[in-house]
Amino acid sequence: MHEKEVKTILSPSNGMNLYRGCLHGCIYCDARSKCYNMQHDFEDIEIKSNAISLLEQALIHKRNRGMIGTGAMSDPYIPIEKNLEHTRKSLELIERYGYGVAIQTKSDLILRDLDLLDRINRKTKCVVQITMTTYDDELCKRIEPNVCVTSRRAEVLRIMRDHGIPTIVWMTPILPFINDTEENIRGLLSYCVEASVYGILLWNMGVTLREGDREYFYQQLDKHFPGLKEQYIKTYGNQYEVVSSKNRDLMQIVRETCKKHQIVNNVDALFRYMKEFEEKDKMEQMSLFDLFPL
Ligand code: SF4
Repeated sequence: MHEKEVKTILSPSNGMNLYRGCLHGCIYCDARSKCYNMQHDFEDIEIKSNAISLLEQALIHKRNRGMIGTGAMSDPYIPIEKNLEHTRKSLELIERYGYGVAIQTKSDLILRDLDLLDRINRKTKCVVQITMTTYDDELCKRIEPNVCVTSRRAEVLRIMRDHGIPTIVWMTPILPFINDTEENIRGLLSYCVEASVYGILLWNMGVTLREGDREYFYQQLDKHFPGLKEQYIKTYGNQYEVVSSKNRDLMQIVRETCKKHQIVNNVDALFRYMKEFEEKDKMEQMSLFDLFPL
């Protein structure tokens, strides 16, 4: 790992990545793609050394408070976070200055910060997003080798439910010939239903592959699933979007389950929800004022 001073930490849409690169080793990781122009090895994590002070300045000076998003390009709970606590320090600032947060991870290390997530959610809004792709934990260990298995992530979801923290499951990517089965999808859905998740986010039953990401994926297929690389090449060539032949039927299962259990499944609605800022204290004050006008 190495450190780097950066000029800004929040994107114009309030997105934040405290680290660059990731250690979780997912075989399909899009963040490895060449188009992101990473100047170092993906596993040589870049720590944005001034991130916390930059974030504090940004939060103080923003005209309007809102939701801060993190976890899109690097998991905020990679193993080095355990000692560095950059994510924890960011959450402390988010809480102190009255912002909300939408945070995405695959790691149960997020439970360390449950106290902060809970406080943020009581004041404003905290949305925890957990990615789950593979119901079978043994298969999960091959696909996402350096992070806790899906059954543990499901436990995290249930703990969030018990604290009243809304959750969204990213059920993506689904890899053709590997986990695009009805059994897998129904298993993942059962975890979501049990944890009363707010939403399930996915576009289709597939994965995207492009330069950088594709090469790594094929290497890992050769290592863990001999013969599958050839099948991918034969079926999909160099396509960016690689969609399972079972897409229609599996998506139908997802839609029906979501409808039955009142889980939001519309991608646009879910992104809107994660951006919508709420001030619960203010809402409580307003309702008191409405009840007892001066
Ligand atoms: S957790 Fe996310 S960023 Fe990290 S390797 Fe997996 S897909 Fe990539």
